[in-house]
Amino acid sequence: MTAPEDIVRRQLSDSVVKAKTVAGVIGWPIGHSLSPRLHGYWLRENAIDGAYVPLAVAPEEFAAVIDVLPEMGFAGWNVTVPHKELALAAVTRADDGAAKIGAVNTVVVTDGGATVGSNTDGFGFLENLGNGIPGWDPASGPAVLVGAGGAAKSVAWALADAGVPELRIVNRTASRAEDLARAIGDIAAAVSWDSRSDALAGVGLVVNATSLGMAGQPPLDMPLDTLPTNAVVNDLVYAPQITGLLERAQARGNPTVGGLGMLLHQARRGFAAWFGPEPSVTPELRDFVAAGLET
Ligand code: NAP
Repeated sequence: MTAPEDIVRRQLSDSVVKAKTVAGVIGWPIGHSLSPRLHGYWLRENAIDGAYVPLAVAPEEFAAVIDVLPEMGFAGWNVTVPHKELALAAVTRADDGAAKIGAVNTVVVTDGGATVGSNTDGFGFLENLGNGIPGWDPASGPAVLVGAGGAAKSVAWALADAGVPELRIVNRTASRAEDLARAIGDIAAAVSWDSRSDALAGVGLVVNATSLGMAGQPPLDMPLDTLPTNAVVNDLVYAPQITGLLERAQARGNPTVGGLGMLLHQARRGFAAWFGPEPSVTPELRDFVAAGLET
């Protein structure tokens, strides 16, 4: 069996080894991740002597690898598919948000070598929504959440904590919507997949947190006839940036928000914790990261 240090070392270039501060993203596979492009941009923009590396780590090697990363000098790391749930159990401690969601996407190593896990997806979601629709008020009406997977859980907690008065959760697998609604509490209710269009009546926000609409996936089949035309439509999918759902929403005059901004904003907290400066999400950064979707 390969030693965990060697699994990491063979993925580090000389320039990474020489960098003063090193962070990275762990997934399996990892080649598709936009995070190295994103953090690389911020490192250059802020002239930081640092590196952010993609690390391909198989699930059976995950726990052993993250055990050795602090002593190998890592300041922290992001965790992506399929390790986010495993990461919750593997950190020294997780904050309340990550514990509620059941998943960690950002880990910071303390001076004493402890690993602290958090989940920044909900923060990224709300920042993206607020930037896309300035003045968006969570209290303005009920919200519909389509999906009950990992991303949906972050969104559900973010909306509940932000103060939406009612959350209708629709998911193909009903039991997952029911479990999530139960965890959120009184403001949330599961709605059957067949009633997904009826659930749009009277809402102020609808969020697609399924993988439907992604390149290579079928579109989200959900007629919008009952959706008020002032309701915000937010798709978490960012490849393509304008999904079929957003196109249909725009055609009937609904304000829309795409998913790329969530990816950019969720990364801010990790970058600031590992490298120091508060990074900003600019149109130039957005274009640079979006260009990575096309390659
Ligand atoms: P996940 O945990 O695997 O959940 C997938 C969700 O999609 C589940 O609700 C699943 O329903 C549903 N789904 C999949 N195929 C379906 C189908 N054919 N018909 C109906 N429902 C279907 O994935 P995730 O991590 O939550 O990611 C979901 C999406 O959000 C992805 O497109 C991902 O790229 C995007 N995302 C974006 C960001 C961002 O920063 N913008 C962050 C995270 C995720 P079942 O429960 O019935 O299987």
